[in-house]
Amino acid sequence: MEAISRLAKLSSGSYLRRCLSSAVASESNPPYTSPFLPKPDYNLIHKDPKNRHVQWVFLGCPGVGKGTYASRLCNLLGVPHIATGDLVREELASTGPLSQQLSEIVNQGKLVSDELIVSLLSKRLQAGEAKGESGFILDGFPRTINQAEILEGVTDIDLVVNLKLREDVLLEKCLGRRICSECGGNFNLASINAKGENGNPGISMAPLLPPPQCMSKLFTRSDDTEAVVKERLHVYNEKSRPVEEFYRSRGKLLEFDLPGGIPESWPKLLEALNLNDYEEKQSAAA
Ligand code: ADP
Repeated sequence: MEAISRLAKLSSGSYLRRCLSSAVASESNPPYTSPFLPKPDYNLIHKDPKNRHVQWVFLGCPGVGKGTYASRLCNLLGVPHIATGDLVREELASTGPLSQQLSEIVNQGKLVSDELIVSLLSKRLQAGEAKGESGFILDGFPRTINQAEILEGVTDIDLVVNLKLREDVLLEKCLGRRICSECGGNFNLASINAKGENGNPGISMAPLLPPPQCMSKLFTRSDDTEAVVKERLHVYNEKSRPVEEFYRSRGKLLEFDLPGGIPESWPKLLEALNLNDYEEKQSAAA
């Protein structure tokens, strides 16, 4: 929790400013070999040698499924799922002074400032710390090199999972995405059947339909329109793609090409993370 307290301190202006201005190019950092990746073992996955829970990051383009897979893994590993997009949407839904400013940025598909996002994340971590939370999977943070430098400066990230999907499929997925206003569940009405191209296999994904009681309460995120999704993909390529290299050069990046929808992808992801045994043991113990 020491690391979390240090990140929480980032919300204090002067420290944050020092971090922001001292962010340096990734090449100047020594290569890092994750103690976790080469020899995965589910005993270490739950608690690493420093005797704490996992601290993982999920990267990937809009619509790739970061939230879906990160929240499933969090349930499995017993750590909180912290999605900065959710923190931004909570702030948007409030009547706070930031709400109007945020809505303009988000609805144009742009990123909110590093300073603001770090401050929202710090608040969330502090609240979690007060409840005794330990470890985390971060979803949607870091999204700029600057944010990655800040995180690197305050805590050790064990593993970064980079989820990947073709852009045409990402767009279809975002346009099909629906949320239930009552239970908050995430669903997808798109039935995806993309043909193979350039030697890559085709990809099919069945819709993820809501239960009947949610059907009439579905809404679409205001930033899931075609023009805004295209802009978010553009912003991802420009600002967030370099974050993949930041972690690749430190030996922390696990690349994962999604082979299809949840039924095909979830077991493969568990396998890639060496967690398939872990899931079996967990369900046997349940
Ligand atoms: P996506 O589906 O594009 O991954 P998210 O739900 O993660 O969307 O985020 C929604 C919006 O919230 C982003 O388009 C951006 O405006 C803002 N946001 C979320 N996380 C960050 C971040 N780490 N840095 C800057 N802006 C962010």
